[in-house]
Amino acid sequence: MSSEQHSTRAENQAQTALAPPAVSVVGLSKRFGSALAVDDVSLDVQRGSLLALLGPSGCGKTTTLRLIAGLERADRGQIAVGGRSVADGSSFVPPERRRVGMVFQDYALFPHLDVAGNVGFGLRDRARRAARVGEVLDLVGLGGMERRMPRQLSGGQQQRVALARALAPEPEVLLLDEPFSNLDPALRAHVRAEVREILARAEATAIFVTHDREEALSLADQVAVLWQGRLAQIGTPDELYRQPASLDVAGFIGDADVLPGVARGGQVDCELGTLPGCPPAYGEVAVLVRPEDVRLCADPSGTAAIVRREFYGHDQLVTVRLPSGRLLRARLGRWQSFEPGARVEIAVDGVVSLFPTAGPSS
Ligand code: ATP
Repeated sequence: MSSEQHSTRAENQAQTALAPPAVSVVGLSKRFGSALAVDDVSLDVQRGSLLALLGPSGCGKTTTLRLIAGLERADRGQIAVGGRSVADGSSFVPPERRRVGMVFQDYALFPHLDVAGNVGFGLRDRARRAARVGEVLDLVGLGGMERRMPRQLSGGQQQRVALARALAPEPEVLLLDEPFSNLDPALRAHVRAEVREILARAEATAIFVTHDREEALSLADQVAVLWQGRLAQIGTPDELYRQPASLDVAGFIGDADVLPGVARGGQVDCELGTLPGCPPAYGEVAVLVRPEDVRLCADPSGTAAIVRREFYGHDQLVTVRLPSGRLLRARLGRWQSFEPGARVEIAVDGVVSLFPTAGPSS
């Protein structure tokens, strides 16, 4: 890379750091009757980044998205889009003036309008409309399909039209509600990667809602985990996976087994021996062990016994019973073969996550 390219990238990063976040949410709350759907949520979305709102059903993901879009009014809190306040205690900017683009779960294309009609729908500047429609259709890889009707398109193509329609007016942020849930599993991974690429090419900022952890971890730059209306944690997929803020978050974003242990700073004693643990803790802890960190070694005098084996082709999940009777899972490559009842020894790679279960001991 030339020094010129280096300095341009550095300048861009500096500008991004100085610019206000594309979306800023502070202390957002929304109640429906007795249900507190969103409870004091604060988060920022940086320009050009992709944020996933992840959490179990009913945790407030869609309501948060709809509050940002202006489709719901908050009880408390402030929302700014592109540095401009769009909702606070005293003012409320309607959805069409927020500079947000929405992509709905069912795409919500107008069935009686062709592709060009759908994509150009929100463009007020008639003189520029055809050119802009052409631009965004090229961006989403549908150049030349202007005259097709929605019913003549595949699910993946309909979604790209919905994306093009939302991108056409150059919004500050795109909001996508469960954008991949209508696609069959075989198509989903492919369309996901495609959408990621389109958003990157458009240098778009986007927030998408999902309850699918793999989708969130593989697509997003930042993941916000919502739990019963509250923001449980926000971070990069790596941060969330390696340093989950709570057992709830840890269990939700990946398979995990939990064992009791006693921590001594950066180490923990548990049924699997003495393991490096993070964060440093003292006293009684819950030790979180990910199946992919567990290794099994056949050993007739081993203390653990194989209970069952689920074979997935690309890998397998093997459950073992520890001497205490607790069960532990190991995700292994497909070549190792264990019969139920076989004895094994266990090793754990890397660092386990620790969650204090009692007050710190001196
Ligand atoms: P899902 O993944 O199932 O779509 P979610 O995380 O998107 O769930 P929300 O749809 O935001 O959750 O709902 C959060 C809570 O608010 C739920 O308890 C839900 O029943 C409630 N809720 C949402 N919208 C309304 C509404 N219009 N009227 C009454 N209650 C609502």
